[in-house]
Amino acid sequence: MSNASPSKLFPLFADLRGRRVLVVGGGTVARRKVEALLDAGARVVVGAPALEPTLAEWKANARIEHIEGVFAAQWLDAAWLVIAATDDVETNRAVVDAADARRIFSNAVDDAELSRFHVPARVERGPLQIAISSGGGAPMLARLLREELETRFDDSFGALAELLTRHRERIRARWPELGARRRGFAKLLSGPLQGLLRQRQHLAAERAFDAALREHETTATRGSVALVGAGPGDPGLLTLRALRVLNEADVILHDRLVSDEVLQLARRDAERISVGKHAGGGGHSQAEINAQLVALAQAGKRVVRLKGGDPFVFGRGGEELQALRAHGIGYEVVPGITAAIACAAYAGIPLTHREHAQSLRIVTAHGKDDIDALDWASLARGRQTLAFYMGVAGLDRIRERLTAHGLPAATPFALVENGSRPEQRVVAGMLADLPALARLHQVRAPALLVVGDVAAFANSLHWFGREPLTDASFTDAAAASPSLAAAA
Ligand code: SAH
Repeated sequence: MSNASPSKLFPLFADLRGRRVLVVGGGTVARRKVEALLDAGARVVVGAPALEPTLAEWKANARIEHIEGVFAAQWLDAAWLVIAATDDVETNRAVVDAADARRIFSNAVDDAELSRFHVPARVERGPLQIAISSGGGAPMLARLLREELETRFDDSFGALAELLTRHRERIRARWPELGARRRGFAKLLSGPLQGLLRQRQHLAAERAFDAALREHETTATRGSVALVGAGPGDPGLLTLRALRVLNEADVILHDRLVSDEVLQLARRDAERISVGKHAGGGGHSQAEINAQLVALAQAGKRVVRLKGGDPFVFGRGGEELQALRAHGIGYEVVPGITAAIACAAYAGIPLTHREHAQSLRIVTAHGKDDIDALDWASLARGRQTLAFYMGVAGLDRIRERLTAHGLPAATPFALVENGSRPEQRVVAGMLADLPALARLHQVRAPALLVVGDVAAFANSLHWFGREPLTDASFTDAAAASPSLAAAA
């Protein structure tokens, strides 16, 4: 095997605590290496004619030693490792040659050929470190992979590694035999422990850990429920935590509003159950859904209750948690991007604006009773933005009540149908024309209604999908599409 381009490097994690490491170079590249070395507890000596400000500060605080001047071989005296971090290839080469002569391992920054050891790309979570190397051949690929791993493993892995390190002796004593330890571990990790760490419930996590150590191997694991917001439809708007929970799910109970693209991101072998409620009755009642959540969790499943938008905004998430709590079932809540936030963003409507609106009202206008219960006098005030959910069927009433309470008929509105999805449509106009325009364009649920001066920005700031439909654009569309004209 040729050693000109090393096809295989031997990975190793070095204990540098208290050991002298030489860094040649005093610029920002050197500073980054020094920082990592200090983090590992090394005694760092920096050799360079001059130091950049942070290095100079560390010198002043005696965190590093400084040898001033041009590289000389005796700088390597007593060093365990050396990093050549100058911007001069010849100097770097001289450092590596001198180190070779003394059999000291050397690294030349960003020079795989010259380096005798490589510093891998890494992902750090507390005491846990994942190091990635492409052998120097494809550093961009290693970097990409690192980014992917950064999103795959959240902070809870650091807390987990820390907890396991702390209890290392107890774990060995509990499962002296390797096979049993492996099984015990697998079960420990499939339980609530990591979820608790993720929620920063460290005391509860310690208790769960204790319980797992005491448990017999045959005891069933306890189920739990994650109430998760799936966002408005665009899978890119899912949170990293939602993605993680979806990857760990045994069962997913989802609403009709959840898009297929989002469901596709869940664990392949997770069972998917649609529990959509239909406006005209039928489907699943809330009581049925609550009972199903409780039963699945009691059967030991990791359940994800997946809802469109955010689970706590017109999502009945509160009622489901009350049911879970009443049965002593563990849960967590993962927020999602709610329709008002998503639709406004994807329609180019700033929900607040210093000149137009200082507050945002999130309102439901589902049935006649909901509508009558609203405080219309306060909704009809100016300088605010109204976001109506579930309002498609009540547009006539919304316009009538707002106008009756004094909101000018010329107030702009925008109706965003299927916000953030490829088929998104925006209908924009004046309050006076709201129901007529919606009928003209046959707007259907799910659609979000924005009322207020900011809604007019849909005409000038739109960026996603088709241009807003207004009176004028309807005339164009009608000319181009006789069937639409006929339908209207
Ligand atoms: N929990 C959800 C809201 C559920 S109520 C959330 O936070 O978004 C259902 C209503 O939400 C729909 O009638 C519609 O008004 C709105 N909605 C949800 N997703 C939408 C989307 N992609 N585009 C437009 N409106 C949407």
